[in-house]
Formats: sequence, structure tokens, C-alpha cells
Amino acid sequence: MHSFIFEPQPWRVVFGAGALDKLAEEVARLGAAKALVLCTPEQRATAEDVARRLGERCAGIYDRAVMHVPVEVARAAREHAASLGADACVAVGGGSTIGLGKAIALEFGTPIIAVPTTYAGSEMTPIWGITEAGVKRTGTDKRVLPRTVIYDPTLTLSLPPALSGVSGMNAIAHCVEALYAQNANPVISLMAEEGIRALASSLPGVVADPGNLDLRTKAQYGAWLAGASLGAASMALHHKLCHTLGGTLNLPHAETHTAVLPHAIAYNSAATPEAMARVAAALGAADAAGGLYDLAVSLGAKMALRDLGMKEADIERAADLATLNPYWNPCPVTREGVLALLHAAHQGRRPQG
Ligand code: NAD
Repeated sequence: MHSFIFEPQPWRVVFGAGALDKLAEEVARLGAAKALVLCTPEQRATAEDVARRLGERCAGIYDRAVMHVPVEVARAAREHAASLGADACVAVGGGSTIGLGKAIALEFGTPIIAVPTTYAGSEMTPIWGITEAGVKRTGTDKRVLPRTVIYDPTLTLSLPPALSGVSGMNAIAHCVEALYAQNANPVISLMAEEGIRALASSLPGVVADPGNLDLRTKAQYGAWLAGASLGAASMALHHKLCHTLGGTLNLPHAETHTAVLPHAIAYNSAATPEAMARVAAALGAADAAGGLYDLAVSLGAKMALRDLGMKEADIERAADLATLNPYWNPCPVTREGVLALLHAAHQGRRPQG
């Protein structure tokens, strides 16, 4: 066994169908009297329900969250929060909405109560991201880690089946990279492996029967473990590549993770046999990369980056950007290797086991 450092995060997780009933209590527990509810324009109705539940502790609703937290949106939300005297934010939605809460917390230290409605996992991490002039800056700051996370799977029932599938694959990506992370530790590895198992065994049923609360509960349990893995372990090639593709080419977040994952894992598999064995076992597949591909296909995901809007001419530039700044990966990241990986993902070929 390798040496390791284990540093538990101060997570408070309230989990289960109906957990949203505890929202007002949880906000009071933080000593907040005026919470601003954050959401996307599409999730306004959910935010209104949340605001009703908060009653007098609600400062208002800010419904302009969008993907990748543009700096203009972050500034406007901060001004709005300050003008209302908000002393907490309740972020109800996916990574985009929780990301907006983090942008406010980064400036004012306002505590976040996250109510996640996708499987992306931002609620469990101290990582923030803000996009300015087409470039997404990210950083880590303990102030942006939500103080309380309320996982109520009834809120995921409305997540469309196709988005549920790719959002779940996005969560699995966190687990896989946590298993071979430079700072991996045995506790987070247990959570990561269990996260893959819970997601892989529930997602096909979620996509086929999106109203099934038992399966939604299991998928969200997996998403929690995946978010915890993302928050505790540093990510490598797969996440760096998706960050480049999303930020520079504006490709959709969860869909891009889904198409790239089998190829990034195939790239790293020879260097990470122990992690690959755990991924394959959790998937119930003969090999990790092929098993991830087959799972994504069974969820109806688009597996070719060209079908997500990436042009063949973008491959060279993406490979340049992805290899510009060195970072840790279980095996060397070469421009040649990344080019081959991107060509395979662009065409959506099944990786060889
Ligand atoms: P998202 O938050 O952008 O949501 C996608 C769409 O789905 C939105 O229109 C949203 O309103 C809608 N939606 C969400 N939940 C719904 C539900 N239950 N029912 C119906 N519609 C629903 O998507 P995402 O994949 O959750 O988040 C992606 C963003 O989060 C990216 O910007 C990514 O970089 C970021 N992210 C950050 C971290 C981190 O640790 N900082 C982690 C993961 C993702």
C-alpha cells in the first residue's frame, strides 16, 4: 500500500427523498436570516418552491445562472446579493447554479446551501470557475465549499433522460480519475469505487424510466460519492482535456466528458492496472475503457466529438492547448498521444481493451 495523506472535508450532507423539507431548518442552523435563492431561468419554478419553503428567511430569487459562470453574471449576482443584504445563498440546480453561488462566496464569504439537481458534483468541491473573455479561470478556496448539501432525489425526477445519462457519466469520470490520482487515498478510493457501482447499476434504469424514485435515489447516492471524490483528489488527463474542450471550443460539459472518458482511460490504463481493475469490477465489465464506452452507448449518449460540434480542424489546436501547461498524469502526456486520443474520440470509436 502507498503512503497517503487523508484530510476529511467539513461536509454536511442531508440525503433522501423529502430532504428538501429540512431546508429552512438547515438555513437557520447556519444562523442565516436572509438567503438568496439561485437558479437558472429554466428552473425558476423549482426556485419559487424553495423560496416558499424558506418563508421569512428568503431574501429573493436570482434566476440568471448560466453555464461556466460568465464574469458579468457573477458581478450582477454579487451586486444583487449585496443590495438585498443576503447572508447566505441557496443554490438549487446543477453545476452552473452552484458555480454562481461559489462566485458570490468567493467575494463575500457568504455560506452556500447547495441543493443539487444534476449529477455533476460541484456541491462537494472547493473549486470555483469564472469565465472572462472566453477563458475559464478556476481556483480552489475553502470559502466556496458549500456548508450544507441537501440531496433530495425527487428534484432529479425532472432531469431529462438524455441529460441524466451524460451527467451520470460526468460523475463516473470523477470516480475513475480519483482512483489513480497522485493524492489518492484508500478512503476516497472506496467512495469512488462505490460511486461507479451505484451509478453504473442505476443509470440505465434512470434513462429508461426517469420517474423511478428508487433508481434516482441510487444515482444521486453515486453522484454524492463522485462529487466527494472530485473534491478530495486531484484530477488528471481526462478532466484537463474536457476543461480545454469545454472552455475553448464551447462544447457541452457533460456530453464532452462522456465522449472523451473511454479514450482518456484507455490512454492511462497501462500505467494504472490496479485502478482499472477496480473500475472494471464496479462496472461489471471485462475492461475499464471498453466498459465505460458500452455503458455510455447503452444510455443513448453521442460518442463522437464531431457530433457535439467539434470540427476536425480543431483537433490540432486542442492537442496544443492540452499539452501547453504540464500537469501530473499517471503516464506522460505527449502531443502525439493526445492527438491520437482526440482523433479516436472525434470519430467515437470504441477503444480497444
Ligand atoms: P447545468 O447546471 O448547466 O444544468 C444543465 C441544464 O439542466 C440547465 O438548463 C439546468 O437548468 C437544467 N437542469 C438541471 N437540473 C435539472 C432538473 N432536475 N430538471 C430539469 N432541468 C434541470 O449542468 P451541470 O452539468 O450540472 O453543470 C455544468 C457546469 O458545472 C459546468 O460549467 C462545469 O464546469 C461546472 N462544474 C463545476 C464543478 C466544480 O467542482 N467546480 C464540478 C462539476 C461541474
